Amino acid sequence: MCHHVPTCPDARDPHATAAHTVSDHDVDQGWQLLCNGLIVFHDGGCLVPP
Ligand SMILES: [Zn+2]
Repeated sequence: MCHHVPTCPDARDPHATAAHTVSDHDVDQGWQLLCNGLIVFHDGGCLVPP
């Protein structure tokens, strides 16, 4: 999913949220999708992809 060089941290990496945002819905829906598949919510929670 990530096409960046160097590759962004994996979704299970401790620094997973350092990955780039690929879909920003922070303003309208309160979440962002990162290029490693991680979904980060406005309240600080996150959802790791299966
Ligand atoms: Zn990336």
